[in-house]
Amino acid sequence: MSITTSTAANVSAPEAPRAFTEFTLAEARAWCTSQGWPAYRADQLWQALYRHAITDYQAITAVPAPLRAQLVTLLPLCSSAVSAVATSADGSEKRVLKLADGETVESVWIPMGAHATVCVSSQVGCPIGCRFCASGMDGVARNLTAGEIVEQIVHAARAHPRCEINNVVFMGMGEPLLNWAQVARAIRIMNDPHGLCIGMRRITVSTVGIPRGILRLAEELPQVNLAVSLHAADDALRRRLIPRCPCSNEELLQALRTYYALTRRRVTFEYVLLHEVNDRVQDARRLAALVKTVPCKVNVIAYNEVPGAPFRTPPARVVHAFVEELCARHVTAVARRRKGGDIAAACGQLRRTFHSVAMPVA
Ligand code: SAH
Repeated sequence: MSITTSTAANVSAPEAPRAFTEFTLAEARAWCTSQGWPAYRADQLWQALYRHAITDYQAITAVPAPLRAQLVTLLPLCSSAVSAVATSADGSEKRVLKLADGETVESVWIPMGAHATVCVSSQVGCPIGCRFCASGMDGVARNLTAGEIVEQIVHAARAHPRCEINNVVFMGMGEPLLNWAQVARAIRIMNDPHGLCIGMRRITVSTVGIPRGILRLAEELPQVNLAVSLHAADDALRRRLIPRCPCSNEELLQALRTYYALTRRRVTFEYVLLHEVNDRVQDARRLAALVKTVPCKVNVIAYNEVPGAPFRTPPARVVHAFVEELCARHVTAVARRRKGGDIAAACGQLRRTFHSVAMPVA
């Protein structure tokens, strides 16, 4: 049996990938058939993993013992393991996952009543290097595979079997539109109605704004939500905050207008407020003028301070005034609640803490 490499774009049956989570259901069926088992055995495995949060092949007693034994030797159910969990006072949990090659990524589980949102990473590290963000401080090591993305949801579901995960946001580490093949594949796996069944309209891809990637998203997965991390209405400031920013604001807005024409879906802008950098009333005015050229809403997020980054959280009154100014200019804007502030929940923070302080498993 050959093992595919970690970033292979086309993991196809019957060749076995490095974990069951890399399969689509159609591929899992083809793999079972190629091994001499009926295709419906794949459906049973799929349901056990995604519907019943089973952690071990041997517990899937609906399938014959010889198939279980074969799977145990040939193909792990998951390729990652949870190496640390930090729980916030607000109930959200951040997991550090150890991947098969020793790399680590993080994901956050955010409960809301009987349901929960999972924030997932798409890359190990991030190549964009936003100056205020912990994820890009060490650059990017590699893309995640579709299975490694899906497993972030699987691990959270296993820890909370009675809480339905019904939202997924790609707001963890990495730039999802630079790993599009695997991100799109992961979205199709998590959307499968026989498994996790997470609605396309409940999945959000957050991007720094890569015009070509935005158009691919519109063409291939038009029901998925798009969030764009803007952070500055002015090109010079945006380049200062996002040194490897891939395009000008006008090019970005042009791509978003095309996105809207193709999907008829409103874009969400994310704007992280950095005190005395981009949080003045005139910044809100410029932002309103820029974003009004596309149907949108704006999420204003107070900065979660990162040790070593030269930015500060604005006071609550500044956040309030910024949102008020946008609303006064007829832009739909909300100050998003910051969840998990006490567990280093901003993108990439916990993993860095983990590397430097060696956190215990909770
Ligand atoms: N690369 C993608 C997705 C990852 S970051 C993107 O840029 O959108 C997800 C969001 O978290 C982005 O809006 C990012 O700017 C924001 N973010 C990163 N670090 C943060 C911090 N310390 N405090 C608040 N928001 C942060």
